[in-house]
Amino acid sequence: MSKLLTEHIIGDSHCDTLWWMDRAGYDFKQLNASAHIDLPRLRSGKVGLLFFAVCTAPYSRPGSHLQKSMDYIRYYHQTLEQNREDLLAVESVAHLKQAPHEKKIACLLALEGAEPLEGCPDNLELFFKLGVRALSLTWNKRNMFADGVSEAITGSKLTRAGRQLLEKMSSLGVILDLAHLSPSCFDDALALWPLPPLVSHANSQALCDHPRNLSDEQVKKVAEKGGVIGLTFNAPFISGETVASLDQLVDHFVHLARVVGVPHLAIGSDFDGIRYPVEEIPDASCYGKLIAALYDRGFTSTEIDLIAGENLRRLIGACLNE
Ligand SMILES: [Zn+2]
Repeated sequence: MSKLLTEHIIGDSHCDTLWWMDRAGYDFKQLNASAHIDLPRLRSGKVGLLFFAVCTAPYSRPGSHLQKSMDYIRYYHQTLEQNREDLLAVESVAHLKQAPHEKKIACLLALEGAEPLEGCPDNLELFFKLGVRALSLTWNKRNMFADGVSEAITGSKLTRAGRQLLEKMSSLGVILDLAHLSPSCFDDALALWPLPPLVSHANSQALCDHPRNLSDEQVKKVAEKGGVIGLTFNAPFISGETVASLDQLVDHFVHLARVVGVPHLAIGSDFDGIRYPVEEIPDASCYGKLIAALYDRGFTSTEIDLIAGENLRRLIGACLNE
């Protein structure tokens, strides 16, 4: 017997909503015309778990990443404080279990690109104290730790600082996010990483040949280590165009389920970080349309539970300390 669509609680491994909090006029408590995410739409979209990314690389010059990240992290904590009835910060496995009991949205703070560390792996200890529990080494460019996809041509490995950072992350219990890494750094990081990895927002390169997407070979390597891939709603990563349909997004779920199985798939919308979301899912109130489309394409209720959030919760449970 199928569950009602509304019974699936959504987990999403990537959004850039902190960027909006840096803009005048945005109010998380209210419905916002421009942004994809706010509290009313998270509630109507049945979201129970959301990663908030701190992404400074596209907007900041060297030397200013740290300050920008402090701004974003301040907004994050202010938002949690002002919405204590609705949001709970996940800083341990216990918080992950606590949030659904209290009917709150579990929030996880992530660094998208390690630029705010300004080259020093030990700085992660301080970001950890501020609540950071997931980190991707780079955005698209090269930094002190690794190369992003736009440096793929160099075929490089992680730097010495990059290796030290991975050690620091695994000892603290910080999730490694492989999104944005160049293919050679992806392999290097994966080989060094002792825990299940996350790819927070990417799709299948077999269906859409974009450098930010993953080849079947990469997807298999993630799955071999018990990892999870959050599929993104960004049209250029789905169809290669600025327009993509829900059906085309579901094609990526179907393909990747065939390649590695449902236990490795999740949702990583990239809401508020993308200009061209899937036509039928223009904002966070519409995740239910994806759930319905997955049913239509033959996924079972149990499989949809895994995709909707259980795989992500399992990964968090395996990586964070108690
Ligand atoms: Zn991104």
